[in-house]
Formats: sequence, structure tokens, C-alpha cells
Amino acid sequence: MISKRAQSVAPSATLAISARAKELKRQGKSIISLSAGEPDFKTPEHICDAAIQAIRDGFHGYTMNTGTPELRESISIKLQRDNGLSYDPSQIICTNGGKQALGFSMLAMLDEGDEVIIPAPYWVSYPEMVKMADGTPVTIRTSFENNYRMTPQQLEDAITEHTKALLLCSPSNPTGTCYTADELEALADVLREYPDVTIISDEIYEYIVFEGDHVGILNAAPDLKERTLYINGFSKGFAMTGWRLGYLAGPQHFVNAVAKIQSQETSAPSCISQKAGEAAYRGSLDAIDTMRESFKKRRNFIFEKLSAIEGLQCFKPSGAFYVFPDISHYLGTTTEDGEAIDTSTDLCLYLIEQQGLAAVPGDAFGEPNGIRLSYASGMDELKEAMSRLEDGLRKLS
Ligand code: PLP
Repeated sequence: MISKRAQSVAPSATLAISARAKELKRQGKSIISLSAGEPDFKTPEHICDAAIQAIRDGFHGYTMNTGTPELRESISIKLQRDNGLSYDPSQIICTNGGKQALGFSMLAMLDEGDEVIIPAPYWVSYPEMVKMADGTPVTIRTSFENNYRMTPQQLEDAITEHTKALLLCSPSNPTGTCYTADELEALADVLREYPDVTIISDEIYEYIVFEGDHVGILNAAPDLKERTLYINGFSKGFAMTGWRLGYLAGPQHFVNAVAKIQSQETSAPSCISQKAGEAAYRGSLDAIDTMRESFKKRRNFIFEKLSAIEGLQCFKPSGAFYVFPDISHYLGTTTEDGEAIDTSTDLCLYLIEQQGLAAVPGDAFGEPNGIRLSYASGMDELKEAMSRLEDGLRKLS
């Protein structure tokens, strides 16, 4: 009854750990979860007010498949204002989260055997989305030494005659690394040699950047615009994960292809969320600044704590709200109960079962030597999490 396609898809490790955390909590255990990928803040009030007003106004019908003209216009204005990118509203399609913009892009772009280059560690969904669209994910392993950023040489080496696209995620989930303008320009130099390769630029964490301004590939290399798919959404910057609103901006013919798929699969995102999104981009961005400052304090705290734990090697994230320490020092150890810790998954299972700390294994992100901790939690929780982690690691031998 189950298709090969569905069988080939890996279940989300993030959701699996979160589910285990919930189950243990339900049993009355004290669990600190640093596994979820969502801000712990509330959606800013003026955005909620716009949604409530929309309901009261009876704004409850299907909208245009690509999103309301008003929302697409506000996205177009935002792209110019915040990113210096010029897109006509018709070159924008609103989707149920950035996730759907990415998934439908794969469906619109890939044929069997087409390769998509994905630098690892990567967001868990990328390779699965490629596979679901009959494509082949080709991963490039980046390293701590290179700040978890792909080098131009690595990109060049990975490109084959089957390469259809490159997936770029900056700021990155799970490492929080951000490419600099120079690094993006160097990657663009390679891409210019391969005019058939599409660039998918996932900039969903753009508002959560701690040092300097966010730069995307199109800021560094505007000449690549005709073959770049710009992906963004409201989930992370505005604490709107559950509203399910994202979008794609790109070449008209590609947006039209995604629109066809969306029209048959889901239609436009929720009308209420669209009104909320419009208010988010048209209104004040002060709440974003407040959240960013808070994330930065937590980033500093958690980075300092992790760096002080023996054997952990920790990259200092410059964006998003994750930290991805290298835990290879602890692989090949044994717990007090005699259980072997051979993989990052073993380590995360041990941490959740014995220490009540939920983290996501690097295996799921294509980097077996790391674990991902989300610091989208209050300071007290983070303090307790760090002491549980330190204690748990100390007990391994
Ligand atoms: N891209 C990255 C890198 C993410 O981490 C996420 C969510 O975790 C998304 C896209 C999709 O977010 P949403 O579908 O909530 O817009």
C-alpha cells in the first residue's frame, strides 16, 4: 500500500526527539528540550491584531492561489527595502511556510536523476524533499575548520552534468554559520561557469544575524538573479511558526510552474495568515530587534558554556538560534550503565533518557560528529540544560 517514494523518506529526527521529550514529560520526568526549531516568543501584537481584524471583517474566503495582491505587494516592498532586491509582485508566490516553497520548487524543477548539491550539515528536510521529487541529493561535507561553509573548490568538485541546483542556507540551520559577501562572490565565480545550475537561496533566518547585516547570494552576485530562487518566510523572524506562511520570489516562468503545482495540491495559504504577514512587513520591525538581542545574549551564554566543557569543540554561530558543537570526543565512550555511545544518535538518546535533555543528533543533519541545540529557550532553562549536558558528558568513560 505504501509507495516507494514514501518508503524512501526518512522521518524527521527533530520531530522524533521532540515527541520523545513530550512523552517523557507526560510521564512526569523533568525534561529540558533544546530540540525544537522555533522561537519561544509570542507573535508581535500588531500582527495578531491584523489577523483578528481580518476574521472580524469576514475575510474568510479562498484568496488568489499565489497569495493576495496586497501581501505580494508588501513582500515586494520588503525585498526592496531590506534586501535591495527588485521583484514584481507577480514574481512572488506565497506558500504554506518556506517549507512548501522549497518542496514545490523541487517538484517544479527536478526530473529523475537530477542532482541537487546540499552543503552539510544541512536542514533535515532538504535531502528528503529532493528525493520526494525524484532527484538525487549530493552532499558536500563542510568542516568546523572552514566555519561549516562550503569552499568554491568543494562546489566545483561536486558539480556534474546532472547538477540541477545548489541549495544555500545562510544563516544556516543547524550551525548558525553565515556566508560573507566575499565568500558568496567566490561561490558565484564558480556558478558563472555553469549557467544551467539553479541557485536556491533559503534566507529564512535573515532577521536573526548577530554580526553585521544579512547578505544573500543576490547581494553578492546580482547577475545570478535570473536563475536564483529566493526563499523566505515569517516563521523565524516574527515568531510565526504555526501561522504557516512563507514565499518564493524568482523568475516569472518558474513562479508560474510552482503556482500550477500549488493550485492542484493546496491552493494559497490561510487567508488570515496572509493578513498577518502583510501587517508584519508593513508594520514596525522593533519586535524583531528585541528578539534578536535576546537570541544574541543566549548565544553568547551557551557558546561560553559549551566552549568550557572538556572535549567539545564549538563553532560560534553568527545567526539563527542553534549551536552545533562537535561531540566526536565522546564517540566511542560508554555510559555508567555500560551502554555504548558510538553515534550522535546514541548520545542524544542517552542525554534525553538519563539527563532529561533533548538535543537533535547530527546524523540527521548529515554531520555525524555534531549535535544541534536550539537556544530559543529562556535563560533559566539554558542554564539548567548546560549543567545537565556537562554532567552527562562527565559520566561517560
Ligand atoms: N528553511 C530552514 C533552514 C528551516 O530551518 C525551516 C524551518 O525549520 C524552514 C526553511 C521552513 O520553515 P517554515 O516552513 O516554518 O517557513
